[in-house]
Amino acid sequence: MAIQTPCFIDGADVTTDRSYDNIDPSTGGLIGAVSLGGRAEISRAARAARTAQPAWNALSPQRRADVLDEISRRILGNVDELSRLESEDTGKPISQAVNDVRVCARYFQFYSRTIESFYGATIPMGEGFEVFTSNEPYGVIGHILAWNYPMQLFARAVAPAIATGNGVVVKPADETPRTAVRIAQLALEAGLPAGILNVVTGTGAETGAALSSSPDVDQIGFVGSTEVGRLIAASAAEQLVPAVLELGGKSPHIVFADADLDEVVPTVVKTIIQNAGQTCSAGSRLLVDRRIHHELVARVSASMEQVTIGRGIDDPELGPLISTKQLGRVEDYVNGASGTVVTGGSRLETEFGGSYFAPTLIDGVDPLSKIAQEEVFGPVLVAMDFGQETEAIEKANATDYGLIAAVWTADIDRAFRVSRALRVGQVFVNNFGASGGVELPFGGVKKSGYGREKGVEALLATTQTKATVVKVARSTSSP
Ligand code: NAD
Repeated sequence: MAIQTPCFIDGADVTTDRSYDNIDPSTGGLIGAVSLGGRAEISRAARAARTAQPAWNALSPQRRADVLDEISRRILGNVDELSRLESEDTGKPISQAVNDVRVCARYFQFYSRTIESFYGATIPMGEGFEVFTSNEPYGVIGHILAWNYPMQLFARAVAPAIATGNGVVVKPADETPRTAVRIAQLALEAGLPAGILNVVTGTGAETGAALSSSPDVDQIGFVGSTEVGRLIAASAAEQLVPAVLELGGKSPHIVFADADLDEVVPTVVKTIIQNAGQTCSAGSRLLVDRRIHHELVARVSASMEQVTIGRGIDDPELGPLISTKQLGRVEDYVNGASGTVVTGGSRLETEFGGSYFAPTLIDGVDPLSKIAQEEVFGPVLVAMDFGQETEAIEKANATDYGLIAAVWTADIDRAFRVSRALRVGQVFVNNFGASGGVELPFGGVKKSGYGREKGVEALLATTQTKATVVKVARSTSSP
C-alpha cells in the first residue's frame, strides 16, 4: 500500500519499507498508511541532528529567534490544513483543533521572544577572578509524545529545544503523526537548517523504544502514561541521560460553599468534556462542600446533558474518544465504579460509527476506589463531598497524581491556605487552565512526573549550566 505519511529526517521526507494504519476515530475508517520507523531511522535522525546542531547553536540568539518567528508565521498561515489533519487524526472538534494550531504557533513565537533575553549570571568571587555562567544546549534531544494534543505537545517540546540551540528527534504518537511531519516540513521552509528537527513516525514498542534507548540522544522528553513513563525513565537511567516526564493526572476542582457557581458550572463541564476528557490536566474530580453538594451536582449534570456530540469535523462540543480500545477502557472504569451515575454512563451509537462516550457524572464515589484514583481519560467526572477545609485538602491530595488543581472560593485567605497545601504543579484560584498557558511552567509532582515544560523554565530544562572562572593577573606585566 502507498504510504501517505513519511518520516521527516535531515530535511527530507523518508518513506520506510514497513507501515501501519492511521484510523479515523470519528468513523473507524482508514485515513492512510504511516511509515513505521525503526532503530535505523532513529539512528539516522539522531546523527543528522548531531551533525547540524553545532552550526545552529553557533548562530546568534537573534538569528535563531528570527527562524522561530517565521515558523510561527507559517503555522498560522496553514491553519486550515493543520487543523483538519489534527481533527481527523484525533477526532477532536475542529474549533478545538483551530485553537491548538494557534497555541502551537504561540510556542514558537514565545520562545522566539524569550531566547534573546535568556542570560547567564556573573558570580562575585573577589578581585582576581571573573566568573560567569552560560546556558549550553544538551546537543540532541529526543521527544516521545502523546496523541491528545499532538500539535501543542510537539511545539512545547520542540520550540524551546531549538531556541536554545539543540537538535531534536520527535516520535509523535502512533495515532496522530501527521501534523508533526507537516510542521517539520514548514520549519524547513521557514529557514530551519536540515537535520535540526527530525520526525520519526512509528509505534511505541518499536520506534519509541528505539528513541528512548538510543545512545545518540543527550536528553529524553516524554509525554504519556505513567506506565510507559516508568519504562522511559529506566531507559534514560541506562543511557545515563536526564529525562523530563509529563505523565498523567487526576486533577480536582475544590468547590467551597461561597464559590460563584455561575462560574464553576461551565468551567467544570468544559474541563471534562474538552478533548473528550483526554487531557492530562482534565478536571476529573469534583470535591464539593457538603452544603452545596446537591445543588452543584444537579447543575453540572443538567449542563452535561446539553452537550452536543458528533464528528470532530462537524464541530460539536464533544467528539469521539481516540480509539475503540480507549472506549472499552472508559467503559470498564464506569462499569466498575462505586457511587451513583447521575448522567451518562455508557457508550453512544451514532450513524457514522466511531468511539463515542456520553458525558458522565458519577456522584458519591468512594475516594479510595479505582474510579476516584485512576486516570480514566474520557468525559467522566466523579464527585464527592467534604465538610471542613482540611478534609478537602486531604481528599484533593489523596491520589498518586499531582498535576493541577482548582480552588473555588470567595475567601482570599482560604484560597492561599488551600493553594499552599496542595501537592500539584499548578494551582488555579477561581479558574481552571486545562492545557492552556504557554507562559506557565507546567509539570507534575508525585506520579505525574518530573521536570518542567512551558514558560521560561523550558529554556532551563533544555540547557545545562557551565561556569567559567577566569583568573585575572593583578598587575600588568607589559607596558
Ligand atoms: P502512552 O504512554 O501509551 O504513549 C505515549 C507515547 O509513548 C506514544 O508516542 C507511544 O507510542 C509511546 N510509547 C508507548 N510505549 C512505549 C515504549 N515501550 N517505549 C517508548 N515509547 C513508547 O500514552 P498515550 O495513551 O499516548 O497518552 C495518554 C497519556 O498521556 C495519559 O496518561 C495522559 O495523562 C498523558 N499526558 C500527559 C501530559 C502532561 O503534560 N502531563 C500531556 C498529555 C498527555
